[in-house]
Amino acid sequence: APAEQPEVVVNAHGLPYLDSKLPVKKRVADLLSRMSLEEKAGQMTQAERGAMSTPSDIASYDLGSLLSGGGSTPTPNTAAAWAKMIDGFQLRTQATRFQIPLIYGVDAVHGHNNLAGATVMPHNIGIGATRDPQLAQKTGSVTASEVRATGVPWDFAPCLCVTRDERWGRSYESFGEDPALVKSMETVIQGLQGAANGKDLKDDDKVLATAKHFVGDGGTEYGSSTTGTYTIDQGVTKVTRQQLEAVHLAPYQTAVDRGIGTVMPSYSSLDILGDGQGPVKMHARADMINGVLKGRMGFDGFVISDWNAIDQLPGDYAAHVSTSVNAGVDMMMVPYSYKDFTTTLIAQVKAGAVTEKRIDDAVSRILAQKFKLGLFEKPYADTSNASKIGSTSHRAVARQAAAESQVLLKNANNVLPLKKNQKVYVAGSNADDLGNQTGGWTITWQGASGTNTTGTTILQGMKNAGGDVTYSKDASAATSGYDVGVVVVGETPYAEGIGDVGNGNDLALTPADQAAVDKVCAAMKCAVLIVSGRPQLIGDRLGDIDALVASWLPGTEGDGVADVLYGKRSFTGQLPVTWPKSEAQLPINVGDTAYDPQFPYGWGLTTKTKVPGGGTTTLKALAVAAALADRHGADEAGRALVDKARLIVQQKIGQNITAATAKPFADADHLSLTGKYGAAVEKLVTAYRAA
Ligand code: BGC
Repeated sequence: APAEQPEVVVNAHGLPYLDSKLPVKKRVADLLSRMSLEEKAGQMTQAERGAMSTPSDIASYDLGSLLSGGGSTPTPNTAAAWAKMIDGFQLRTQATRFQIPLIYGVDAVHGHNNLAGATVMPHNIGIGATRDPQLAQKTGSVTASEVRATGVPWDFAPCLCVTRDERWGRSYESFGEDPALVKSMETVIQGLQGAANGKDLKDDDKVLATAKHFVGDGGTEYGSSTTGTYTIDQGVTKVTRQQLEAVHLAPYQTAVDRGIGTVMPSYSSLDILGDGQGPVKMHARADMINGVLKGRMGFDGFVISDWNAIDQLPGDYAAHVSTSVNAGVDMMMVPYSYKDFTTTLIAQVKAGAVTEKRIDDAVSRILAQKFKLGLFEKPYADTSNASKIGSTSHRAVARQAAAESQVLLKNANNVLPLKKNQKVYVAGSNADDLGNQTGGWTITWQGASGTNTTGTTILQGMKNAGGDVTYSKDASAATSGYDVGVVVVGETPYAEGIGDVGNGNDLALTPADQAAVDKVCAAMKCAVLIVSGRPQLIGDRLGDIDALVASWLPGTEGDGVADVLYGKRSFTGQLPVTWPKSEAQLPINVGDTAYDPQFPYGWGLTTKTKVPGGGTTTLKALAVAAALADRHGADEAGRALVDKARLIVQQKIGQNITAATAKPFADADHLSLTGKYGAAVEKLVTAYRAA
């Protein structure tokens, strides 16, 4: 709480912009017409809450926004403390002329990951593996409700990155390598914000969402700079215009159509081959932000910069400010340099480097969202949903997501599901580690190993499921006498950069993980679970492993993983990214001409026992349908249909079908459904549509 209470110097009561019955446009116009340049510049400024020299800077600089950024530690650890902290800041705006409320933002990228005890969802790569847009929406709703209940109306999520090279450390923030998959998971935006027209944003269980990082963050090139640092994070995305449109831009139109409130440009540079510009930082790309996003796509929310991102632009600070604002960035995340930013912006307007018209546009966009969120009417935290934070019903959604995100890559001798009467030996670095299971952006920015919040580890989940388990982390005394071994290995947490540095820069398992796998799999039948933000290299070791599961970063509900291990639910997850055989294959993506991965995109066996039947012709037809969808993309309904088809094929012919594996019978002419199996595909499609 603030030490001294600020005084209310001006009571804005009675002014038209305060009339909630007026349309947002009118309220914005009224307020804007009264504001000074200084007040407008303040609205465009976002400071880090821990970086302010004094909370009275909020009023002195007319700040429009605060955030708790990744680097912001320690964070309050109860919902009440969050609400109190934010209310304390909000109160400061009372000392300004127009008492424009602050908009407070956090990164709640997989549940309210900032708050101990909150529900933590699987990271996006796991959500992509579920292929379940409805579930993605539910995870968004739970997140929104928990975030808003702590007084935070704005979430810097979801990441719409389309990861194309998993050496990128933020691959776990991606729903997958296929833009159609990413688009299908954007139901999460509805979960967070509600209706596309923004009418639900006032509700106590909705937040404003942010599509990030615009555009091409998942497409940066891997390589080492002259200083030896890897450039894949915040690096350069080199693409043709056609690739840019089809792979990286496509998800943004869907987000705009869903009414996304804010968009964050990427730290990376974009190099559109053949346009003669070379690599240009996204925060400077007027052609993309003003032109494509706000122009062609019709985005009417506001653009928030990434953390300190303008500092990476060429030229002096004045150039950083004018270039980014003129490119279309409306609010600047300038955690520590908020004073410099506002004063420089004001000076740049006075010098004619930024027009007042541009300022008015930026401020109008920001104010419109504040009005939609109902912040003028209810600036302070509404904690009525606080009791639902981390509740059983919220955890049930996370548990379902954890279960559906599990991808069964191999299952020789039907080792999985486990049976309760089996003696199970559990080992490995990630079997009993909630911190590793939740990954980065959990309580702290980079995350941390160990017990970081409330939840169940995979080991605890297995015990809760009634399993007869014996546990040894380092696989000591892995002997016979057990029916099956379960080795849980993988990465330790990280948020940004190149990923798990302790693992080296490659995707290999650590020596300790390799040893645990080797020991257990030599002694007994074994299932290996990989808890990681991206594929890990298994290579030849695959031959020694009976069952292999990609568990991703499943979040706080290890119970969900246990649900599929013990057959309470079937494995239904499918790879959201290609699983490579070796480092040398990277980058590798579905559709590549030479495509010979360890497991193709879309792979995922099922333990479903009852699936609808079908003769060989139908199966082949289904395979073709699946292959075509993989190769050419399809709309949401088409993909759901194909997913059903894939399940049937997997079950019936014991083989996963993708564009690559269906090649022998998936000729190009099937696209028009006139090929060898065209009629059968058509029949299937009709039958499923009718069902
Ligand atoms: C990340 C963003 C995040 C921001 C605020 C940056 O480092 O790139 O994704 O929203 O920090 O925490």
